[in-house]
Amino acid sequence: MKKPNLKKKLTQNTKLVLQVFQSTPFDSFDVYMIRDYINKDRQMMSQRTIYRAVERLVETGEIVCIDIINGTRKYELAKANYCTFICRKCGKEKHLEIKKISELHKKIYKCYDFHVNSSLFRIYGECSHAC
Ligand SMILES: [Zn+2]
Repeated sequence: MKKPNLKKKLTQNTKLVLQVFQSTPFDSFDVYMIRDYINKDRQMMSQRTIYRAVERLVETGEIVCIDIINGTRKYELAKANYCTFICRKCGKEKHLEIKKISELHKKIYKCYDFHVNSSLFRIYGECSHAC
């Protein structure tokens, strides 16, 4: 089965929001942070436009919602081939590249008839030494 090409229909504003995520691939953003980031260069974009762009990027699998804090969603760039380890005590993050992710996707497709278009691996724990 062929993947539907959702990426080609991104608007200029949506691409601009995507660039915010791409500029720091391991950081997470909520819509307010995106708005501040974009508007600091006097490129005025309304919150509504940013909301729409974020929704679109979630739809296309470019970004994923990683957390909801006080009702505000935080998003991160979908890095299918990375696993993030997060310390519950100090909040420090480490990233590990998963080399054979496409094999996992193939297996999921073969065994579960399910097409993966984005994935997020987050593992929570604690640093082994005092942090
Ligand atoms: Zn720690």
